[in-house]
Amino acid sequence: MIWLGCVPGIISLEKGFCNYDDKDGKVTAKRVILATGINDVLPNKPGFADAFGRGVFWCPWCDGHNYKNRKILVYGKLASAIGSSLNLRKLTTDITIVTGGALTKEDKDDEYKIHLNAGSSNPLVTNGMLISLPTAQTSSLHKQLRLEMDGKSVKVNSNMESSVGGLYVVGRWIRAQTSGYLGT
Ligand SMILES: Cc1cc2nc3c(=O)[nH]c(=O)nc-3n(C[C@H](O)[C@H](O)[C@H](O)COP(=O)(O)OP(=O)(O)OC[C@H]3O[C@@H](n4cnc5c(N)ncnc54)[C@H](O)[C@@H]3O)c2cc1C
Repeated sequence: MIWLGCVPGIISLEKGFCNYDDKDGKVTAKRVILATGINDVLPNKPGFADAFGRGVFWCPWCDGHNYKNRKILVYGKLASAIGSSLNLRKLTTDITIVTGGALTKEDKDDEYKIHLNAGSSNPLVTNGMLISLPTAQTSSLHKQLRLEMDGKSVKVNSNMESSVGGLYVVGRWIRAQTSGYLGT
């Protein structure tokens, strides 16, 4: 059975689970695989939401190759920005670290002028900007189910089973655990 839509609630039963949808429908299941993902929490400052995915990126392994031997700006708290810069150093040595400010992006071909303090007359010119972002679980199902956590990630055993038997968790948070890059 394929169920499309939001699942706002899951209840753990004595045997199995009861999943609710947002229209009062429900379905029982012996096992549940949770794949609700995590969100990147963008800085609450102008410019970032518009530029994210368009010259502003967070994953050096996914997008870094686009900036081989080019200018990159790394934006984030100093310690994580230094870590990200080290991850990029085989691709380019033209790296500038910036630790704060709003963003105004002017596109010119594939070059960006980034005004970190809106209106400043000396924009930083770069080809792309890597941003170190904190993350948060997309859904609150892990809280409802009182799953044991490891920092912001759900704790699982080697079979991806959570602290609630029969409930498995897959997806991006695994990368966070194996690479440590996302810091969750
Ligand atoms: C700009 C950008 C570029 C990226 N580039 C790459 C790349 O080049 N290569 C790469 O490997 N990775 C890339 N990634 C990362 C990749 O997108 C993620 O690692 C991957 O999507 C994670 O998959 P996931 O299944 O864990 O979560 P998601 O893809 O986030 O999927 C979770 C899904 O669950 C749904 N959901 C959440 N809560 C509920 C609920 N209560 N009920 C029902 N549904 C719910 C969400 O709506 C969503 O559709 C990129 C990410 C971003 C943001």
